[in-house]
Amino acid sequence: MQSAIIATGNELVSGNTVDTNSSWLCRQLITFNIPVTTIVTTGDNKEQIVKTLNQLSKQAEIIFLTGGLGPTDDDLTRFILADFAGVKLVENPEAMRQIEDYFRKRHYKMVDRNRIQAMIPEGAKVLENTSGTAPGIQLKKDKCTIFALPGVPREMKHLFNIHLVPWLRQLHTQTIHRQKLLCIGIGESSLAEKLAPITSNFPDVAVGTTVNEGIIAIQLTCIEKGKIDALTQRIKDEFGNIIFSDKGLPLPQVIGNLLMDKHQTLATAESCTGGLIGKMLTDQSGASNYYKGGIITYSNELKQSLLNVPEDLLQEHGAVSGGVAGAMAEGVLQKIDADWSIAVTGIAGPTGGTTEKPVGLVHIAAANKTGLCKTEKFLFGNPGRETIRMRAATSAMKILRELLLTNNSHTV
Ligand code: AMP
Ligand code: MG
Repeated sequence: MQSAIIATGNELVSGNTVDTNSSWLCRQLITFNIPVTTIVTTGDNKEQIVKTLNQLSKQAEIIFLTGGLGPTDDDLTRFILADFAGVKLVENPEAMRQIEDYFRKRHYKMVDRNRIQAMIPEGAKVLENTSGTAPGIQLKKDKCTIFALPGVPREMKHLFNIHLVPWLRQLHTQTIHRQKLLCIGIGESSLAEKLAPITSNFPDVAVGTTVNEGIIAIQLTCIEKGKIDALTQRIKDEFGNIIFSDKGLPLPQVIGNLLMDKHQTLATAESCTGGLIGKMLTDQSGASNYYKGGIITYSNELKQSLLNVPEDLLQEHGAVSGGVAGAMAEGVLQKIDADWSIAVTGIAGPTGGTTEKPVGLVHIAAANKTGLCKTEKFLFGNPGRETIRMRAATSAMKILRELLLTNNSHTV
């Protein structure tokens, strides 16, 4: 069974809005073993969309069409579907009742324009939308079922979950088993080199790797759970601690879990990352259990006054140096009563680099209350300010994770 997606909206083809609906839909459909063969993004153009529907309906059994279900003049989906199916639009009393209900419950005044949203191609099914005013439409032509869903991502997801999930389940497509292993601290080529001889013994398991800001995801897919489990174990035996999660947990959450296991806490001292590490840690719900907070010292002056970094260290080695990173990590522990700290100082660019200290040079330190302090130097090159800062934040967490895994001191 094959499916296709048509994402419609002038805002998508003008580049003002990123089409997140299609990627979200693809991820859901994979879990039902319904591959998406084609994604078409198009403006609000009736002829173009009807043409695309005609083409895609010849090869796909299911088509998802998002956008264009609103009440404004550029919302053309209902007209497109009527044209495509060769039927007329009729007012659907059930859809009208749902729209009126939506407004009544919120004490909003319903304007006449909203009545258009109850106009449905004859013979089509209404998909009630309790999260907005645009009901979805389900329509079958020959062997192809089309689901028209709202463009607003929140509403699209809601309709998918309440209407599409039960519909897709009853198709009883074969279950596909998946396993994701997240790795840090190894390059993609080295990983691939070590992985190939292992995975070659499991020809039935599809293996894919993706890299994002220093984190490699190994994705395993197979219809036999036993084979996935066996390969997962082999990969874990080979890569050990390089794998930081087999459950898709983000690195900051993994750090949080390690700290919570030890009943320990963390503080941060950030320069070039400007609070990014603190942000990533506090993106996780429950971070207050282990993250005390951080001090952002962008200037040398604040590195001295807030973190007690010695002036001569700054003079002699410069702010971007291992010594200063270490002093920041130790200094923040004097100000914030935490068990562990991480500190980052570097040159995020694109300006400010020198031959001696190029853009992408970052020194990171992790320390603990018992006097342990580890510093590491990174040369991230010049992939852009945002990437350097992300790589620095991720690397800081990587160093801390290594120390947490090897250090057995507990404070309760
Ligand atoms: P519409 O249902 O066409 O009125 O779309 C309503 C709003 O949803 C648009 O203004 C966009 O902000 C957003 N939107 C529409 N299509 C998409 C899409 N494919 N991905 C992300 N957002 C979208
Ligand atoms: Mg639109």
